[in-house]
Amino acid sequence: MGRNTDLIQHPYQPPAEFEAPQPGVYKASTVFFPNVAAMRQRDWKNKSGYTYGLHGTPTTFLLEERLCTLEGGLHAVLVPSGLAAIAQANLALLQAGDHVLIPANAYGPGKVLAQGELNRFGITHSFYDPLSLPSLEQAITPATRMVWLEAPGSVTMEFPDLPALVRLAQSRGLITALDNTWGAGLAFNPFDLVPGEAQTPLSVDVSVHALTKYPSGGGDVLMGSVMTRRDDLAQALKLSHMRLGLGVAGNDAEAILRALPSIAMRYDRQDQTARAMVQALHDHPLVRQVLHPAWPDSQGHAHWRSLCAPGSMPETAWQQGRAAGLFSLILDPSLSSAEVDAFCDGLKLHRLGYSWGGPMSLVVPYAWGALRTQRPAHLHDGHLVRFSTGLEDAQDLIDDLRSGLDALRRP
Ligand SMILES: *Cc1c(COP(=O)(O)O)cnc(C)c1O
Repeated sequence: MGRNTDLIQHPYQPPAEFEAPQPGVYKASTVFFPNVAAMRQRDWKNKSGYTYGLHGTPTTFLLEERLCTLEGGLHAVLVPSGLAAIAQANLALLQAGDHVLIPANAYGPGKVLAQGELNRFGITHSFYDPLSLPSLEQAITPATRMVWLEAPGSVTMEFPDLPALVRLAQSRGLITALDNTWGAGLAFNPFDLVPGEAQTPLSVDVSVHALTKYPSGGGDVLMGSVMTRRDDLAQALKLSHMRLGLGVAGNDAEAILRALPSIAMRYDRQDQTARAMVQALHDHPLVRQVLHPAWPDSQGHAHWRSLCAPGSMPETAWQQGRAAGLFSLILDPSLSSAEVDAFCDGLKLHRLGYSWGGPMSLVVPYAWGALRTQRPAHLHDGHLVRFSTGLEDAQDLIDDLRSGLDALRRP
């Protein structure tokens, strides 16, 4: 045989006894079948066999299983980003004529997706105030099929009464879909929201997770997952996943598998650092308001406490429970936008960039207009700046923000 044929059709097989801390990485578009009968028989849907890279490899199946372990689901599909996970859940579970409800403080691109794409397919949406059960109740129409939930809301960090919202939605026969990126499977269990309360756990139907954030932990991989415990929804998700041609690369799945064992450690460390920063800076003269669900004054703090720090006393909850390493500050309205921009530009350790959960601390100034049609009454007037805490030493991050704020204080 020619050298090229020998190179390609080489008989090497990886040794069966090779065991190591990390699993092997399998990459494929093509998957071989031993014979035509096997080719005709194999069905990717129940994970009993492999058919084509897009439908899964040992590496992606393993990642799906580990994510189910993390979040408490039974079935998961992987998609190329967190936003794609939101899109996938919408496209798989809704159809023309359906109406979907989205919290007013939801992740912005998820709203834009509803406005720009779902609308074109005859799926309408409206927004509800996640801090008000009547707001959800009133927003439900005969066409409503699904309710999105997010705890806490993006950027403004209000924490909803998740169990109550889920109960209400389920009493109306609606699918509940949670964006679980903030909780990451660590702050609370989306498939058992009130542990020990009832024989059948109170559970969301679908959990989507931007694996880009904590599961990756590196600021270097984009991926998302859609997870459920319901067989009927799992089937719908898998079929639409296949028809849409969604899949993820083996190397990216491997990067997440490598980071998953340290997720709880990283989450807790970033949580502690963020809380230390809030504690140190909340009374700075230029800070009008702290937005962090564990902070006692924050909107929905009691809901955070009962879900993420169960059993804690109000006085000590600030030191307990779990929260992602994210907070926003509303800075004094007497500052000009240019001054706030200069403050963000001038930070040494907080880099300007979107996303969170990576090793490096980040800062983003937000304009109200980009978030809401109008500023909600519980948020003070001023400039909204979101911080995502990395893995640096807490004191250095505190010093970075304090010197930035001090430089702004006018004589
Ligand atoms: C980042 C994020 C997403 C989207 O994730 P990408 O991988 O960046 O597309 C979705 N939801 C929430 C809450 C997020 O923070």
